[in-house]
Amino acid sequence: MKIKILGCHGSDSLTREGGTEHCCRSIGFLINDSLMIDAGTVSSVLTLESQQRIRQVILTHAHFDHLKELPSLADNLVSCATNPVTIAGIPPVMESLKAHIFNEVIFPDFFGLPDMDHPTFQSKVLEEGREVQFGDIRVTPIPVNHLVPTVGLILRDHHGALAISGDTHQTEAIWQAAAKEPNLKAVFIEASFPDEMSDLALASKHLTPSLMKKEFQKIGKPELPVYVYHLKPQFRERIATQLRQLNIPNLHILLEGQEIEIS
Ligand SMILES: [Zn+2]
Ligand SMILES: [Zn+2]
Repeated sequence: MKIKILGCHGSDSLTREGGTEHCCRSIGFLINDSLMIDAGTVSSVLTLESQQRIRQVILTHAHFDHLKELPSLADNLVSCATNPVTIAGIPPVMESLKAHIFNEVIFPDFFGLPDMDHPTFQSKVLEEGREVQFGDIRVTPIPVNHLVPTVGLILRDHHGALAISGDTHQTEAIWQAAAKEPNLKAVFIEASFPDEMSDLALASKHLTPSLMKKEFQKIGKPELPVYVYHLKPQFRERIATQLRQLNIPNLHILLEGQEIEIS
């Protein structure tokens, strides 16, 4: 599977590090050009043609930084005569999306526009622990430990598997599943705050570099490539320095525009 990183930070900001500017964007991973994981970044970085190729969007949770470009994606696709795009999430996520975003107040209900027979979006309710097939990719959502109901994901195709932590504090089930995954090729784990802000990480149910390492060790595969993401842009340099000091052999920090091949 091919993963294009549209956004991989815990917020949106232009940062300047050592004279180089970088545009940090909220989470959006595009798999095989057709499956989105979260929609914090999608419409603002893809051409209309690329947006039209998206067939499914999986939302890990209902926090705004993970769904905020779904309204503009809907607007861009409403006139397309293709099949509706499937928006998938666990029940509380789908309920929040309809109650608070596509509620005819904040934004029109694109699950019934332009008309009920030809909607722009259709819902798919995910069940925790139950695998679902989206195109070539099989996806298992697994609950993690965040402020609101949230899942991490295990993605599989015939080449291999990838585990994605989602927004989480310390958790167990997803790492147990990852440890058992016979063909696991890589893992994405969040690290939102630097180590000295562990109180805020606990209060907001996120990880620091040190906590991230403990979560990674639960998989029991020290050589596994680990891609760290959801760094808060304002602490990016400090978090990156602390991550490099962890001595994890195959650690990478995700960056917008990067493409990763799981094969
Ligand atoms: Zn987030
Ligand atoms: Zn969150």
